[in-house]
Amino acid sequence: MCTVGFIPLAGGGYILGHNRDESRRRARGLLPERRARGDRNFIAPRDPLGGGTWIGANDAGVTLCLLNAAETDPGRLPSEPVSRGRILWQILHLDSIEAVRRHLDARREGLRKVRAFHLVAAMHGDAGLAAVAPGAGGRADSPSVTHHAGGRVGPSTVTPRSGGPVDPPAVTPRSGGRVGSRLGPSMDGEASQRAVASGRAFLKKAGERARTRPIEARAGSFRWDGARLTEHDHAGPALFVSSGYDQQGAELERGKRWRAFLAHLRERSQFDSDDLALELSRWLARHEPERGALSVCMHREAAASVSRTIVTASPSAITMHYHDGAPCDAAATEVRRSLKRRSS
Ligand SMILES: [Zn+2]
Repeated sequence: MCTVGFIPLAGGGYILGHNRDESRRRARGLLPERRARGDRNFIAPRDPLGGGTWIGANDAGVTLCLLNAAETDPGRLPSEPVSRGRILWQILHLDSIEAVRRHLDARREGLRKVRAFHLVAAMHGDAGLAAVAPGAGGRADSPSVTHHAGGRVGPSTVTPRSGGPVDPPAVTPRSGGRVGSRLGPSMDGEASQRAVASGRAFLKKAGERARTRPIEARAGSFRWDGARLTEHDHAGPALFVSSGYDQQGAELERGKRWRAFLAHLRERSQFDSDDLALELSRWLARHEPERGALSVCMHREAAASVSRTIVTASPSAITMHYHDGAPCDAAATEVRRSLKRRSS
């Protein structure tokens, strides 16, 4: 039960929005704080009961977040399963999608005690032209993406123009970016993967060596269903949806709205990351087709969207805007936490 939208920006940055859908009985999350582990700093809210979290971002420019996933065999779980939030908490310092993959791979046995989950890892790209071996082009341009049910919703029709998957930006995130104080709230697919690839081709300057290209932000998603761990790459805008009530219906409805949202962004000639954060926050607060189980800002009797997080990653900083209440609740507290980017 969650909605996550990811949009890469020109220049290697990205923006990620997350609605946390939870039981109304669960204790309120603790506000995000800066923390350190090893030589990495990270920012994350925390679940006071399980001690884990559902989202966090670190100074390497990596954001990790969780969605629930369908359990294929609930009988496999021990009487007291390990909290998936704890799994996320333990890896908030990792500095790449590859590091997340290695970590999870090495602990497959331990995952048998963990409920099913869907973990999304977003990673900053590089604005410069990096030398890339043919075929190794950063996994970003190797659309080995296999559509999997209950995950990404696609396809989108994003056709990047000048190098940004969502056509934007002269994006130089202003520090101190504001995400509209009281805010109101996705998808991709192989079509957008191809579109991104063609956008890159467009970027190449005449005479430029074929082996050089900018590296764009990308996302990896890891799904643990209790038996298998699968991974997918997402090089363009992506939407991830989970619903314990009606997975297919939620994907369909939220997917439709996400495509409309991306189309709306494409109509604008230019905007900066603050504008985009505001737009995404408003999108995450939407009630379509009606305020209820299928809307992005989710409301049911037993569960609801209880907080909303927007992370913006720029070459110099990573910033979290946390809305401590329903995304549509204009009176909820908002906090902002920021870290300077550090390469190592
Ligand atoms: Zn709402």
